[in-house]
Amino acid sequence: METKVAIIKDINKDIKFIEEAGDIIRDGGTVAFPTETVYGLGANALDEEAVKKIFIAKGRPQDNPLIVHVCSKNISELVKEVPEVAQRMIDKFWPGPLTIILEKNDIIPNMTSANLNTVGIRMPSSEIALKLIELSKRPIAAPSANISGRPSPTEVERCIEDLNGKVDYIIGGESSDIGVESTIIDCTVNPPLVLRPGGITLEMLKEIDSNIEIDSALKSKPTENFKPKAPGMKYRHYAPKAHLKIIKGKNEKTIEIINEILENYIEKGNDVAILTTDENLNKFNSGKVISLGSENNLNEIAKNLFETLRKCDDLGVQHILCQGFEEKGVGLAIMNRLNKAAGYDILEV
Ligand code: AMP
Ligand code: MG
Repeated sequence: METKVAIIKDINKDIKFIEEAGDIIRDGGTVAFPTETVYGLGANALDEEAVKKIFIAKGRPQDNPLIVHVCSKNISELVKEVPEVAQRMIDKFWPGPLTIILEKNDIIPNMTSANLNTVGIRMPSSEIALKLIELSKRPIAAPSANISGRPSPTEVERCIEDLNGKVDYIIGGESSDIGVESTIIDCTVNPPLVLRPGGITLEMLKEIDSNIEIDSALKSKPTENFKPKAPGMKYRHYAPKAHLKIIKGKNEKTIEIINEILENYIEKGNDVAILTTDENLNKFNSGKVISLGSENNLNEIAKNLFETLRKCDDLGVQHILCQGFEEKGVGLAIMNRLNKAAGYDILEV
């Protein structure tokens, strides 16, 4: 399949590309596009055949439901009801990185919801994403625009790397500002439950309802007979090709242990990347030392996380050693993604 690539520099001047992409969505095709969280791979959420193409292009398991992206806060067509607590979240956090799970209407095909009677819905804030949804005149089902299991793309080059020849259209624009996928909150239960941490933090959600908590399954490594509430929770995700290990603890101790492990790997002739902060850049004895950002700016670390994991693969290292971060604010999302990317290979020191 031939994939058309268009880069949007100025949304007004380049609107014809978004119009073209909108036509493709309406005709049942697939379009990768930027959002503020990560790039998405979209298709008409109401068209079973179109949605199927997303699963095929990504190699995504069909029991992993898709998030439906909308360009308006009025979602009454898509869901049975919007409970009051969900409406308050919509009013406060949309457009933005919050996906709300509600009971779906029959208009949402089973292919989109992976046979669940619920659907996850989000209104993104990215200007290009909103324009695409508006011009396609359809809600757009879109998971991240990567091959299933790989780190999500926050730059258009990574979508091209993974999806060229597999989708109809790739729209490039700004790099994704938030850098980790949306927060997912299940509003079919009371109090609502966070199924995936993201850019809208638990602290922010607690301002809506102080009883909101994180699903207990997110707090530890899943056991073998783990039955996830959201099918996506069971899959290995976001993984670089290199082996990734996380070392978490007090800063000085973390550095000391990373240096020890590093020496061992290097002695055996391995290439190693170290993911750390600006403040720790000079504290490692060897290896390719890369900063994710300042320890005082977890938003910057989240934004750089997936792209840096992909850069490590470009460097061809066999091992990545990454320091852990405090699980506060967006740090919860960072550690959730890192844990999964590392297959829970985490050393607490
Ligand atoms: P992705 O688009 O790859 O970031 O993944 C979307 C994730 O949202 C899935 O892996 C699920 O964990 C979650 N999700 C989407 N729809 C639902 C739903 N109806 N119920 C529970 N979780 C959902
Ligand atoms: Mg994904």
